Amino acid sequence: MKKNDLILIGSVLVAALLFFIGYRVIYHKDGSYVIVTVDGMQKASFPLSEDTTYTIKGANHGTNLLVIKNGSALIREANCPDNLCVKQKSIKKEGETLVCLPHKVIVSISSSDPSDHSELDGVAN
Ligand SMILES: [Zn+2]
Repeated sequence: MKKNDLILIGSVLVAALLFFIGYRVIYHKDGSYVIVTVDGMQKASFPLSEDTTYTIKGANHGTNLLVIKNGSALIREANCPDNLCVKQKSIKKEGETLVCLPHKVIVSISSSDPSDHSELDGVAN
């Protein structure tokens, strides 16, 4: 193997590493966790980076199908009477929410891992 080859391989690795770090930094701005709340109680949380499908058991025997795909979350199906939650646009930024009033379901995006904190409204970070 020639010296030039090693330099080439090395620079490719560095570029890949920088890309990875840059991706993480950009990604963090978009929020990192999907929090599912039913009637004020946190029921589940998922990393926004992993594609997931989850059936939310809401109030009044309601169900909402939460889909996390390509770094954003949306409600694909629901058996609520108004279906407003299904019509909402997908969310991916911190503070954005999906709401199903009949089922008392709130899906929100948080930049911090909810399992690390006991307080929902903690200011410290
Ligand atoms: Zn709904």
